[in-house]
Amino acid sequence: MTGLPAPDLPDLHLAGVLLPEGDDRDLWVHGGRITFEPVPGAETVSRDGFVVPGLVDAHCHVGISRGGGRVPTLAGLREQALSERAAGVLALRDCGSPVDTRALDDDPELPRIIRAGRHLAAPRRYIPGLALEMEPGDLVEAVRTQARRGDGWVKLVGDWIDRGVGDLAPEWPADVLAEAIAAAHAEGARVTAHTFGTDALPGLIGAGIDCIEHGTGLTEELVGEMAARGTAVVPTLVNVENFPGFATAGESKFPAYASTMRRLYAGSGAVVRAAYEAGVPVFAGTDAGGGIDHGRVADEVRALHRAGLPAEAALAAGSWAARTWLGLPGIEEDAEADLVVYETDPRKDLDSLQRPQRMILRGRVVA
Ligand SMILES: [Zn+2]
Repeated sequence: MTGLPAPDLPDLHLAGVLLPEGDDRDLWVHGGRITFEPVPGAETVSRDGFVVPGLVDAHCHVGISRGGGRVPTLAGLREQALSERAAGVLALRDCGSPVDTRALDDDPELPRIIRAGRHLAAPRRYIPGLALEMEPGDLVEAVRTQARRGDGWVKLVGDWIDRGVGDLAPEWPADVLAEAIAAAHAEGARVTAHTFGTDALPGLIGAGIDCIEHGTGLTEELVGEMAARGTAVVPTLVNVENFPGFATAGESKFPAYASTMRRLYAGSGAVVRAAYEAGVPVFAGTDAGGGIDHGRVADEVRALHRAGLPAEAALAAGSWAARTWLGLPGIEEDAEADLVVYETDPRKDLDSLQRPQRMILRGRVVA
């Protein structure tokens, strides 16, 4: 994911409280990497702040424009990634994009992107034009292809409105899911799925899926099974705020769907709280692209806190815990230097996240 360190990388020095450990200490950046060995002549770029491993937006879409179309230009893709960065997001998990965004990887100014390839959906069972659509019989092969193309993740659309039923309904039979998820795992990729409702979840979780996106339909029993299996959830609460609007839009044609979406919305905070309390790993993702602007990770972290995660756990869900989950380092010797500094302690006041004071990305000060 990263190239060779550029020869002009600066030597930097920071002093402050390093999270999550909370020790007040010095660190240096040399050759783009963190070191606790003093580097003579390094420029001090921050003092007395709270130093956090770069934030993570664990569910967003670079390449989907507001309203649901494809972002047509490289400049447009860059702008989305820079909006994430402005919010302190130095790594993002792209949960499905119709656009090939690999050109962004060459730009050291942009956050690291971990891709899930294309959304995989059953025919006419997702937002038009965004997913690769296929019959269940072709899912396994499509999963294999996306597992090879992505950065270690595959994205399924697990449920969507079924116009015949007039409500949310699962997209794939359980046996196909089991084979598809096993195929991804054999390719070394993890699998996640969009779900709003409940009915698709037993098949996905039972098939060994690694993560559930949104997960508003989770029940106590399913939460228990996820906790036992270590299946994560990315609730995207800032996007769940759109559910009442989806309900209103669908009301006249699909009254059952509208009532389902209102019920799921009403229970969304309690689901997150139950998942956290059961020990399900919960991560912060905004679902930016489409219905949400990029750059709202602080809002998501605060929404997780409002739903019942302690402030420090909500912060971890958008920083060090999410990084570990995605295979990214924290603040440690020889780690690539992706750091955000806040003036006040974000563990005590999550509003601090609105005001990154200093950002270091790939060993360079970018803000
Ligand atoms: Zn999404």
